[in-house]
Amino acid sequence: MTTLTVQNSCDDENEQGTLTVNNALQNMLSAVSERTGSEQVHLTSAVDRILDKPIVSSINVPSHRNAAVDGYAIMQADLPASGEIARLNITGRVVAGHPHKGDLQAGDCIQIMTGGQMPDLADTVIMQEHVEVHGNTVHIDARHSAGQNVRQAGEDIHSGQTILQAGSKLTPPQIGLIASLGIAEFQVKTPLVVAVFSTGDEVLSIGDAPREGCIYDSNRYSIISALKKIGCSVLDMGVIADEPDKLRNAFELASKSADVIFTSGGVSVGAADYTKQVLSEAGSINFWKVAMKPGRPIAFGNIDDAIFFGLPGNPVAVMVTFYQFALPCLQKMMGLTTPLITPTINARCTQSIRKISGRTEFQRGILSKAADDEWQVSTTGQQGSGILKSMSDANAFIILEHQRSSVKEGEWVQVQPFSALF
Ligand code: AMP
Ligand code: MG
Repeated sequence: MTTLTVQNSCDDENEQGTLTVNNALQNMLSAVSERTGSEQVHLTSAVDRILDKPIVSSINVPSHRNAAVDGYAIMQADLPASGEIARLNITGRVVAGHPHKGDLQAGDCIQIMTGGQMPDLADTVIMQEHVEVHGNTVHIDARHSAGQNVRQAGEDIHSGQTILQAGSKLTPPQIGLIASLGIAEFQVKTPLVVAVFSTGDEVLSIGDAPREGCIYDSNRYSIISALKKIGCSVLDMGVIADEPDKLRNAFELASKSADVIFTSGGVSVGAADYTKQVLSEAGSINFWKVAMKPGRPIAFGNIDDAIFFGLPGNPVAVMVTFYQFALPCLQKMMGLTTPLITPTINARCTQSIRKISGRTEFQRGILSKAADDEWQVSTTGQQGSGILKSMSDANAFIILEHQRSSVKEGEWVQVQPFSALF
């Protein structure tokens, strides 16, 4: 059992003017709206794209009545009375893709394979395991019911039916469903164009030679990969030094070419750079203190027509604010209507966690199954907002609600698996 010490470095829980996580999210969501166009894609590259128009079927699926099992297609009038045996002549054989030619007569049956088209007049299939075959005759007992083992035309989808709504993000089964209608190309929403840059004199890009007092940029790479994963078209604008003119130019350029702009760093009270000052002049930006840990300082607003997210500088805070705030906003802007829920599950906490009430905490956790088959979770250890490994080692956020105070070992906590987010 470990007790974690809460770091209070940038947290003043009694400070006025802070927003709750939910208020901040609602403010952001109400400020954004869908901003996509439409483009044609081929079915084979459509997975994870968002439908722009509903898909309406112009055919029945299946298109013809067919057998649900391997067996014998008969007329129900030929089923025997209770206690009797019917003896039917096998007059043909149907395999899938090769329909029967000719009429079925009373007293006859057709051997049929699964998916084979039902002969006209046949309406019932007897499973091959349920009959006795003697030469060219099939013996059928009285346990069968009329109409059994037949798939009706249009049973899955009927002609004219809307099978997928606009705003659906296409999953593999949905791709299969569209293919089953014979549709090769259709309209999806165009990707959001998102500009990403980092700020700070100390921030180096990968490939730069190490410099004393500097760090390698991680935020730009984590944000860009998160954006790519949800299908955004990303403009990597690099690192902008802490110089007002360079920052101003970068904001102007980004707002001309992108629907959304992401930066990280430079928005906290103590930030020794010009981002905040330049941003205040460049657009209509709110600088919020959100009652959360990590991720308290967040800038949000717009620069001309582009929505602006100024995420905190610390790498874990970047990930938390991206997934808790930016992701739902981006989904709304992308025109996604289903599903906007990121499920949480209850898990038993295997350790105590110190917490003060009055802010929501997003601890990084390892979720697993306990011996009694219940979900259990522990933290990844050190939870500082700069310790990105705490996020990389984790598979879930442990969400400690606003009002909650310290967690005792064995208490139930809410957990959001990363698999629901990325
Ligand atoms: P700031 O809000 O700009 O003072 O940044 C807070 C902390 O995050 C500082 O330790 C920064 O060096 C760090 N930081 C800022 N930007 C990045 C970045 N792109 N990648 C990694 N760390 C960063
Ligand atoms: Mg900075």
